[in-house]
Formats: sequence, structure tokens, C-alpha cells
Amino acid sequence: MSQTFTPLSTLGEFGLIQRMSERLAGVARSSRLIEGIGDDAAVYQASEGLLHVITTDALIEGVHFDRTFIPMSFLGYKAISVNVSDVVAMNARPLYATIALGVPRNMSVEMVDSLYDGLQIGCKKYGMELVGGDTSTSHALYISITVVGEVAEQDVVFRRGANVGDFLCVTGDVGGAYAGLKVLLDQRQALKDMGDQYEPDLDAHQYVIQRQLRPHARLDMIEAFKKAGIKPTSMIDISDGIASEVHHIATKSGVGATVRIPALPFDPETRAVADQFMDDIDAYALFGGEDYELLFTVDPSQVALVDALEGCSVIGNIEEATKGIRAYSPDTGLMPLHPSGYQHFNPDSENLDVLGPDHFQDSRS
Ligand SMILES: [Mg+2]
Repeated sequence: MSQTFTPLSTLGEFGLIQRMSERLAGVARSSRLIEGIGDDAAVYQASEGLLHVITTDALIEGVHFDRTFIPMSFLGYKAISVNVSDVVAMNARPLYATIALGVPRNMSVEMVDSLYDGLQIGCKKYGMELVGGDTSTSHALYISITVVGEVAEQDVVFRRGANVGDFLCVTGDVGGAYAGLKVLLDQRQALKDMGDQYEPDLDAHQYVIQRQLRPHARLDMIEAFKKAGIKPTSMIDISDGIASEVHHIATKSGVGATVRIPALPFDPETRAVADQFMDDIDAYALFGGEDYELLFTVDPSQVALVDALEGCSVIGNIEEATKGIRAYSPDTGLMPLHPSGYQHFNPDSENLDVLGPDHFQDSRS
């Protein structure tokens, strides 16, 4: 047996995914498979004219969340939302979910009940059913969910469809989840410093905390697209930050892109948090992640429809690949935009110096 020990940090998370998919490459590919590893969800032909999508995402205590700060019902809801978000990013609707749950011995029946209340609220919200799974004991709370969804063949949207000349757009507002994380980490530090004297100070930050602890998947937006006659040419959900997601779309589509910084949509509460911590708010949107909004591109013929749709912003342009991925602001002009949101296994990949190594974000598909 080989004695070589190569640390995972030498690959980084995306490098690891690439390596694993190469190891699976020898397995015969089903003729029904349309998209395998490398998009928000895998896609296969279910029947004539109908595709299914399938995705898995896990939330792990100490990696993605701190039990001190997230109520169990929120955690259940978030576990559903982060999976539905990947389904929605394919322009698909969720149908069924299964769950693999690892429960530590220091959790009570009431806590598990509350977790399931959150799962149920999530399922209701997105019109889907939790239909099975597996439960075991574990050292830390572990929630892995798999969701299957469906989409008509002509409606599916991949990361790879952006064309030169398309407009880059985003739903909702961005950076809020990161602002919420900042507030929670600050409060955790206050709890450590003050002990029994600690009194939570969260009222002014309810929106951003909700963005972090109880995010919604934008199933409503893909329904609004359909109603408005909008079909994105490419789409991805924002789990790792706009910078990373733009890179995924551009790489898969063989194009370049410019993100117009002044066009990034922020909630006033997100601005207030950035001001309070004297942070660059643009970094919250570009590198913070976990907003679970949709980043998408449309053909120029559809940009007026996007402009007319409430809750959508045009934030940039798709350009030739030779131009690379850039950010534009009046202050700095055009600058290269690096993808470095936080990645698992890679200690050098954080570019938000405000967080310690134990913050609760990771890199998701
Ligand atoms: Mg995704």
C-alpha cells in the first residue's frame, strides 16, 4: 500500500471534485443522462419531453452552522432551501426529497421534532414531499438531503448557455446572508467575552439574520420568469458569492463577463451592517455567498422583460472569453475579478479576512 499522504488542501474543493469526477469517468454513461457532474444538479431524461434533475447537499454542525445560533426549525428549513435552490437553478420544480440524518447523543427528541417541523415547512413552501431516508447516531449533527425535480425538456437551463452579448442579471438582493453571518459572529464573540452578562442584540438585524439562518430558494422567480416569457440562457444559484458563480457560468459557457459593481442590489439593512463593521459592502455580494438568489443571463431581446420584472437587476454583460472575468466601478475602472469565495480544504482561498477558520460557509454546487 502506498504511504503517500497528500493533504486535501493541495487540491482545494473544486480540484477535489475534478479529481473524483475523473475517477468516475470510466463508468459507462447512460444514454438518458443529459448533464452529469458540473452543474447545479444532474439532469436525465425521465420520459419524452420531460427531464428530471437530482441534487444532494449536506449541512454539518461546526462546518456550516453553529447550533448556538440557529433554531432547529430554521436549520430544517435551510436544509430544504439549499437543495431546492440547486433544482431551481436548472429552471426546474422540486418533487421529492430524501434525508440522511446523523444525530448526536446530546440532542433531545424535542430538538429533532423541531428540526422536522422546519423540514415540513420547507416542503410545504416549495410544494414537495419528504419521502424517506436514513437516520443514525453521529458525533455532530449532520443533515444531508437529496432532491429530485422535474422540468419540461425545452425549459431546462444549464450553466453552459451564456452567449457573448447576453446580459448578466440577478434576483433579489445580495450580500445579506454574509451581513447576517457577521452579526452572528459578533454576537458569539460578545457571548464569549461577557458570559452571563450577555444580552443578545439582534433586533436591528432581523432581515440579514434571516437571510443567513433561514434562506428561501427562488422557486417564485422561475415561476415569474415563465409567466413573463423569460428563458435565461444560463443560470446558477448564489451559494459561494457572485464572483465564484460568474466564473462557473463563464467557464462552462466559454465566455468572459463584466460585473458592474454599482448595479449590485443591496438591502438597506445589509448596508447598515457593512457600515457598522466598516466593511466593503461589494465584497459581501461578490465573495460572501449563501444568498441563494439566482444569477442568470438573458439574450438582449429579453432584457426589457427582465427590467420590467420586479425583484430582478441587470448587473453586467457577457463578453468574449479573451476579456476574462472583470468587475467595473467608476472608482477603479475595469479590474480582474477573482473567483475566490471560500472553498473547503483550501486554507488560502478565503479573501474575506474578517472571518476566522471556523466560520460557517462552504462551497456548494
Ligand atoms: Mg448551486
